[in-house]
Amino acid sequence: MENQFVLFYTIHQRPTDTRCFKPHLEAWRNTSLPFPKKVIAHAGYGSEENYLYSLEEEFEAFIPYTTFLKEQKRTYKKDIRHASNWAYAEQKDEYTCPNNRKVLFKCYSKRTDKSGFTRDIKIYKCEDCFECPLKIQCTKGTGNRQVHYNPVYEELKEKAKRSLWSESNAQIYAHRKIEVESVFGHIKGNRLFRGFSLRGLAKIQTEFGIVAMAHNFLKVAGLRQLLSGKRTRNQKSGDEKQFVFRRLILF
Ligand code: SF4
Repeated sequence: MENQFVLFYTIHQRPTDTRCFKPHLEAWRNTSLPFPKKVIAHAGYGSEENYLYSLEEEFEAFIPYTTFLKEQKRTYKKDIRHASNWAYAEQKDEYTCPNNRKVLFKCYSKRTDKSGFTRDIKIYKCEDCFECPLKIQCTKGTGNRQVHYNPVYEELKEKAKRSLWSESNAQIYAHRKIEVESVFGHIKGNRLFRGFSLRGLAKIQTEFGIVAMAHNFLKVAGLRQLLSGKRTRNQKSGDEKQFVFRRLILF
């Protein structure tokens, strides 16, 4: 989206946002539209695979990850479940847990997710959790506590965090709400498009195309009225709802 105009869209039968990111941008590559130098997306798209993809494709990604905001909270920083709050000795590659026991590196493990992307995980294990008075707060598991650490993802998350913390980038990210959410608000709330009438991916691609086109036309019409001085910004909301609804029925 740009200036609240829908420039390009794809529709996916995937339950999570994360796995729609790459297919969406790859489909974009096959269009005549210039490929974006900066991509802004909400935390649902923050994943190791997507961060790596932004590096491979050389665009700047403004994407937080799911715990980005939570991590800033005092409660998170005091929560002993998170190994990121424990002391870590880099040279020995070991943690010291809140009960002062060593949590030692055991092995590497590989995880492959549904999209076929493989992650390398480091597994650490506490030397002895027996009779630990903090066990209930630390883990729900039985036996000695394990820590699963993904070094690549953690580094990428650090990079994303540093980037989003900079004032200029934070402003760019904040613009996402105005650009994207207001368009969904207009389409779903003001124009009452809450579900597809057709069935099948190909048909709903077309149906959403019509909705997006209607949105863009109405935006142009609204802007023309505004520029011609026939309508002020303050008159916009109520009039537009009526106007938009009638126009949409014609589609
Ligand atoms: S449960 Fe194990 S890892 Fe957690 S605080 Fe206790 S001893 Fe440490």
